[in-house]
Amino acid sequence: MTRDTAGADDGLRPDGGDDGLRPDGGDDGLRPDGGADATGTDEVALDPWGASTVADYRSLFEEFGIAEFDDVLGEVPSPHYLMRRGVIFGHRDYRRVAEAMRHDEPFAALSGFMPTGDPHIGHKLVFDELVWHQRRGGDVYGLIADLEAHAARGVSWDEIDAHAESYLLSLVALGFDLDEGEVYRQSTNEAVQDLAFELGTKANVSELGAIYDFDGETEVAHMQSVLTQMADILYPQLDAPKPTVIPVGPDQDPHVRLARDLAGRMRYFKVTEAYASFELEPDERAVVARVYEALADADDGASGDGADDADDGDVRCVEAADWLDAESPDMPGLWDAVEKLRAGGTEPLRPRVRFIARNATDEAFEALIDAVDGEKRVYEGHVDAFDLDRAAAEELAREVEVATGGYGFRPPSSIYHRFMTGLTGGQMSSSVPASQISLLDDPEAGYDKVTAATTGGRETAEKQRELGGEPDDCPVYEMYAYLLAAGDDDFAARVYEECATGERLCGDCKEQAAELMSAFLAEHQEKREEAREVVADADVTLESDRR
Ligand code: SF4
Repeated sequence: MTRDTAGADDGLRPDGGDDGLRPDGGDDGLRPDGGADATGTDEVALDPWGASTVADYRSLFEEFGIAEFDDVLGEVPSPHYLMRRGVIFGHRDYRRVAEAMRHDEPFAALSGFMPTGDPHIGHKLVFDELVWHQRRGGDVYGLIADLEAHAARGVSWDEIDAHAESYLLSLVALGFDLDEGEVYRQSTNEAVQDLAFELGTKANVSELGAIYDFDGETEVAHMQSVLTQMADILYPQLDAPKPTVIPVGPDQDPHVRLARDLAGRMRYFKVTEAYASFELEPDERAVVARVYEALADADDGASGDGADDADDGDVRCVEAADWLDAESPDMPGLWDAVEKLRAGGTEPLRPRVRFIARNATDEAFEALIDAVDGEKRVYEGHVDAFDLDRAAAEELAREVEVATGGYGFRPPSSIYHRFMTGLTGGQMSSSVPASQISLLDDPEAGYDKVTAATTGGRETAEKQRELGGEPDDCPVYEMYAYLLAAGDDDFAARVYEECATGERLCGDCKEQAAELMSAFLAEHQEKREEAREVVADADVTLESDRR
């Protein structure tokens, strides 16, 4: 993992410079940019327990392989405003979830909250995302990460209890339906603990060390809390495999990647493509695909004589080796492929999908063999199917796995939201109360924090009228876009335009934002009170007997 080596101010600045929310001149006027200048020097740390710093969101795409949310936006039915405005900027594999949503198929969403303090407006983003997925028909889960808070942050059980309920109250106040969805605490969810243990059979210490910078001094409980989170993430699929989205900040991406890996490692069968009885590495497979295409085409043209001999249309391994020898295309894995093909001799090359039994019981392997339609060949530990395409094979493998007692996990998907800038300009931090707004702040306190916020305004009103403000560099504008404008895109766009053109001055702008903020807090807190009863009746332990 890369550690942040940038300067101290270079931390959580989603709006830093031109890296913020700004109109692209497109239809809704509120889109993420993605076109900022590369600084080249900022490193990105994705540390779930450290100060996560994202100085440059694009490096998350390039370096970490997170996909741009924009790529799937068009496939999401009535996307949430956080999606429309680019606050949700990235994803892994969200396409599957969007697809399930569009086709009314089962899907799930789950996120977790460490009860280390009061819920704040950063948590609200995730609460809103969960509620939105619930309203779109998903099975939605909100969990209190109490084991993680205890193990990784050293929070006492008394403190954890004091905060746990508060997260649930805000979640419900923001619209979460407890009858439809599920909330739980890690510490009391036995199914999660059992799954965590099982997942622990598929991960080792050096792997966790490499992902999380763990070393010999890392407490075992901290490691356990990682496995617990892996189990949280896969928990929605315990009853049946389904697309599942984990809405989180990008600091949680290491967890998502590991969970996607572990989901695969738990599977009974690995489905690959093959050309002959022997195994190929991915590079080699590309080489063989290439020669197969060249020779099978040539053969097609020459055949038609009906002769049933070595010229029956089959491409022999050795012919392929000869061709590659002669052509030697510039491809990685070339010579390894040639060697394997030579060893294959006169065996014909034939594309096929291969099911490799990894964790499958004998019963499951037998069931799979039965279930494969069409021509198949059974080997020790794998079956080759000649009349199935890859996607059909994947589905079949999952069906058989589930029918014979396996989980059949799908790799979980994720969506990532930008971190909010602190009202004081730096990152939001609970150690700087003025930098962030707690959902429990008195409405007047919230009002005051907004009016005291730093802005993207000019030194004088005159200059501002002349040059316009810098909404991309303004925590107050961010408040509008992330929260205060709610679903009203026109309003958010108007604030942006008026600011950028110099029509809007910071004093009035902050006044308006402060009023909206205090109204939001008052209403939210009222709804929290109304939620007390439902939360008390919910099937979740609010007091722990741990100590
Ligand atoms: Fe920020 Fe509003 Fe000032 Fe523009 S006018 S810089 S949005 S506070």
